[in-house]
Amino acid sequence: GYRARSAYKLTELDEKFGLLKHAKSVVDLGAAPGGWTQVALKKKGKKAKVVGIDLLEIVPIEGATFLQMDFTTDEAERELLGLLDGPVDLVMSDMAAATTGHQQTDHIRTLALVEVAFDFAKKTLGPNGVFVAKVFRGGADQELLKELKQCFKTVRHYKPPASRPESAETYLVAQGFKSPQNKVEE
Ligand code: SAM
Repeated sequence: GYRARSAYKLTELDEKFGLLKHAKSVVDLGAAPGGWTQVALKKKGKKAKVVGIDLLEIVPIEGATFLQMDFTTDEAERELLGLLDGPVDLVMSDMAAATTGHQQTDHIRTLALVEVAFDFAKKTLGPNGVFVAKVFRGGADQELLKELKQCFKTVRHYKPPASRPESAETYLVAQGFKSPQNKVEE
């Protein structure tokens, strides 16, 4: 079984967009408790590796490497880059900011996490790489969308059926990374 219901969301995203089949190197941002990593390891290409990060501790999963750190820190970025040994095929973020009870604030904070994730994706994705991130409708993401469209061939919003209809969450799926500036050594 999966550690989190959210595993079904990634399964559905993968069924719709074919994200994992050829992914040899996957980064899972906001990975706890590990559901998305489990799906990635199950569906990925042969010899693929998954590197995950979360503020929370994650019980180890064979085939995955986890960091317990705040992804938004420079230190976390350095550590992650150190664990990658070549261009990444898929950067996926299911990160959500801790809820404050004020929906607009929560959405804006999560959008800030997505922006950091996008910066990271730009540094690490290889040609045709894919970036997936959870966003909230009404989070004022026009500027981000514009930038994504400059960097990727296609950018879509998709709410997988496993995402509760009453939740404002949806996922951005950006495929076909265009201008890799890989800082990770091959
Ligand atoms: N995809 C996961 C799974 O299938 O098991 C569930 C992820 S959960 C919805 C969101 C996660 O984002 C939380 O575990 C939270 O701790 C993490 N998170 C939020 N802000 C973060 C940050 N700044 N750095 C790292 N992780 C963060």
